[in-house]
Amino acid sequence: MKTIDKSTTHVRVMLPKSALLAVFDECDRYDSDETGGRLLGVYRKNGSELEIDVTGIIEPGPNARRTATSFFQDGDYQAQVFRTLESRQPEIEHLGNWHTHHVNGYPTLSSGDRATYHRIVDHRKHNTDFFYALLVVTRKADAKELDRYEIRHYLLRRGDGAVYEIPAADVEIIDRACIWPESSRIEQQLTPPTNTKAMRAQDQMIFHALYPEMQPFISNRTHAMTWKGRLTLVDDSAVDVRVVELEDDDYRALIKHAPEECAAVVAEIAESPHRSAARALRHAEHVLNRNLHGSRDET
Ligand SMILES: [Zn+2]
Repeated sequence: MKTIDKSTTHVRVMLPKSALLAVFDECDRYDSDETGGRLLGVYRKNGSELEIDVTGIIEPGPNARRTATSFFQDGDYQAQVFRTLESRQPEIEHLGNWHTHHVNGYPTLSSGDRATYHRIVDHRKHNTDFFYALLVVTRKADAKELDRYEIRHYLLRRGDGAVYEIPAADVEIIDRACIWPESSRIEQQLTPPTNTKAMRAQDQMIFHALYPEMQPFISNRTHAMTWKGRLTLVDDSAVDVRVVELEDDDYRALIKHAPEECAAVVAEIAESPHRSAARALRHAEHVLNRNLHGSRDET
């Protein structure tokens, strides 16, 4: 594998911390199988310099298929998200893909990865003449947040059989929100829906995509919205969850049948208000998973 030298385009990557956290959170969810998704954003060319500015990542999607050595993304879901984001940021492009090898220990792109990425960038319908690949390589023991995983960066170009590694020094991790994914933890800058109807529609889209088991119900009496379903946690246990819409656009997640060690956080979850149902559910999922991780580490 080559590094990029003077005779090739110099590449700089701007990567928001929030995007990286979303990637790492996704890796945490799949401890024995590969996972990955798309990298979105904008790019600028200035003479021989290419600047890649990541503004969001798309998760693999609810119907992605995974094994320890391969995975197939849910293209329908990703296309749907992409169209939504395109309406908010018209200049957005599909810049490349991210995926993880932390489960199989392979320290670089596999020959299959390279063949796939060359095929994509050389495809006549591909909208850019480069392809950026972010690879999660290993999980670091006892490290947190942005230090959890080691990552590497690669660039492929149309009509060029080489794969170039982008040196870490040319990748700037910046303090900025991303436009996707939606998350209570990963703050982002979507224009907030201005009324309850628009908020419900956005919540429904997120639930449909990420939590397909959550079903909406509307109260005949109060006309308030409730979503009910099962939420699967990192240890494969599941809880019953209800997300309720209270007055003043205050959404709460109520958990039933939680593992015993989660009792304290279930109360904490029920008492924390959120601006949307999706945020309430994401928050509940995160708190429960963190709690399970924590109690497992202590034993
Ligand atoms: Zn791979």
